[in-house]
Order: sequence, then structure tokens, then C-alpha cells
Amino acid sequence: MSGGDKLEFEIRRNPAPVAVADRAALLASPGFGRVFTDHMVTIRYAEGKGWYDARVEARAPIPMDPASAALHYAQEIFEGLKAYRTVDGGVTLFRPEANAARFVASAERLAMPALPPEVFLDSLHRLIEIDEEWVPSGADGSLYLRPFMFASEVFLGVRPAQEYLYVLIASPVGSYFAGGVQPVKVWVSPDYTRAAPGGTGAAKCGGNYAASLVAQAEAIEHGCDQVVFLDAVERRFVDELGGMNVFFVYDDDTLVTPPLTGTILPGITRESVLTLASEAGLTVAERPVTFADWQADAESGRLREVFACGTAAVITPIGHVRFPDGEFAIGAGEPGRLTMGLRQQLVDIQRGTAADPYGWVRRVL
Ligand SMILES: *Cc1c(COP(=O)(O)O)cnc(C)c1O
Repeated sequence: MSGGDKLEFEIRRNPAPVAVADRAALLASPGFGRVFTDHMVTIRYAEGKGWYDARVEARAPIPMDPASAALHYAQEIFEGLKAYRTVDGGVTLFRPEANAARFVASAERLAMPALPPEVFLDSLHRLIEIDEEWVPSGADGSLYLRPFMFASEVFLGVRPAQEYLYVLIASPVGSYFAGGVQPVKVWVSPDYTRAAPGGTGAAKCGGNYAASLVAQAEAIEHGCDQVVFLDAVERRFVDELGGMNVFFVYDDDTLVTPPLTGTILPGITRESVLTLASEAGLTVAERPVTFADWQADAESGRLREVFACGTAAVITPIGHVRFPDGEFAIGAGEPGRLTMGLRQQLVDIQRGTAADPYGWVRRVL
């Protein structure tokens, strides 16, 4: 397939979908990432041939040769976005073009072929169409979409693979915060970093997560919910959490987030928050924040609120910060007014209960 060509999807309906009553039971309390829909999309790539064999088919295990390159050298990237049920029974996506573009950027960093954005978007539409019944209704649920791609070539040599498999699966999810939004406690890792200059920090690749897990486990051991990473060079500047970007709100209504210098994942939620905040008249700045300033400004009261953001939890207030030498609170450790206001604004746009002046919402069904 070349450039702007359209790839036709062959549809093979699952002959044994989950029964209606069983699906209803699963949708009643899906949790996160454990329940999956009846179908998946697969598209193959081979050097010299391009993208081919696009299918919507029954979700099933993927047969894999033990010498598949991804299992050895981790050429793998992914995306994460949600489909929302609208109040009138339709289905929408939030800024899916941004995910399509980031998938291309991640592919380029991992020396993988770019999946054309129109094919990426088509795959989302095809899967949502066939698995529409799996999109939860109600104000909290959504259908989490997980596009990913990995090196499928059977070869142990170290070089970019010549064959890839793109897959899209979907998982209905409930409210991230059962029982209301709770501030989290974060652990500032003294030992581990997430991404170094020149590395893969800006790519959404599984390898970044693999490298972050031991730090996340350390956070849990220290009674925290999430880990915060400092920069890999000076260990002074705040980068981000394991899977969320971070924002600081000061008493002069300034909103600050670390700049995208290559070691931070360019979050779509992050970008949306920057837009909403500047439209609301806040002063927004992308500039480095040191951990020392974080602590000093929290203790002086100049720093009012801190929050993390990403697709899964939208906006999560950070209430406490723990590090090897101590701990401090942000304000009274409660969710901040500005944090919760931005969260509501964003959720309302995503759910279609507020106007969408930025053209972020895409109607699928
Ligand atoms: C996906 C991700 C985010 C959040 O990105 P969104 O597009 O807002 O979901 C932040 N940090 C990391 C490391 C991520 O992988």
C-alpha cells in the first residue's frame, strides 16, 4: 500500500461472541484492562510490500514464533484512547488524530514503519462499529482502545525488523476513581530515571514502561500510589510520572508543566489542559521545575495545587509527595479548586455534555 491509498478491511465476524447477558454482567463492573470485546483488528506489514491483510476478526491469541524480533529487542509501540457513549446513544472519540500522529512519531523513533494515520483512524472506526455494544453507557464508563504494533519478523539479528503486526483491541472500563476523585501520594525516585536525552522518552513504547516498573514498585513499597521521575542528567528537574504528565498551579493562577525536551511523553491530555487553561485566562508556561523548588514552594504555600494527567484517569490531584528524606503536602492534601475545575471542563467536552469549541470530539456512530 502506498501513501494515501485506502486499505480495505476484511470483516470476519466472531462466530461465538459473548452472550448478551454475560456481556451485561461484564459491563456492570469491568474494572480496568481485564475485560475485552469480541473482536480485534490486525494489519500486517512487510518490507517491499507495505501494509496488507487488514482484518476485523474474532479476538484470539496471536500465534508467535519464539524468534519473533519483538520478544528479543522490544520493537513495540502502543497508543491508548477512549470511545465515549454520548447522551443520545452515539459514540465519540477524543482527538484520535493526535493519537494517530503520535503513533507515527513513536514508530519513527523505534525504526518501525509508519502506519498511515487514515488507516489507524479507520481501524478504530471498524472495531467500534462491530463491537459497539461493548461501549458502556452511563457517565463514568468508556471503551478503552489499545492500538499497538510490534516486530513480528522471525530473525535474531540486531537491526530493524522487516515484518510487523499492527493490532487493535478494546476493553470496556469503568470509573477510574470508584467512589470519587481521590488525591494520590507520589514517590520521588532517588535511584531510577525513566528517560535520558536522546533516548525513547517521547515515544510511547513498551520498553519505557518495562524500565519504570521497578521504580513504581518502590513507590508502592513506600506507601505511595505513583512514582515521579526526575531528569536523568542532573536528577533535579521533574519530568513526569510513570504514565502521566504533571502540572503545578501557583498562587498567582499560573499553571506550569515541564517542557517537551525529548524525555517527556507528549500527552494529549497535557496539551488539552494547556489549551483549556490559557483560554480560561490563566498564565500557562512550559518550563523546568526543580524538585527543590517543588518542595520549597509547597512549604511556603506559593504552590497551591499539583496534578497528573493522562487518558486513563484524565486529571488526578496529587496530595502528598514522599522522598527518601521526608514528605510534604500540597495545600491541605485535598483536590484543588483549579484542578477539579479543569478536570470537569475536560470531562464535559469528552462526554459531549459541554460545547466543543476546539473541534476535539469525533463522532464515530
Ligand atoms: C500515554 C502517556 C501519557 C499520557 O498521554 P495522554 O495522551 O494524555 O494519554 C503520559 N506519560 C506517559 C509516559 C505515557 O505513556
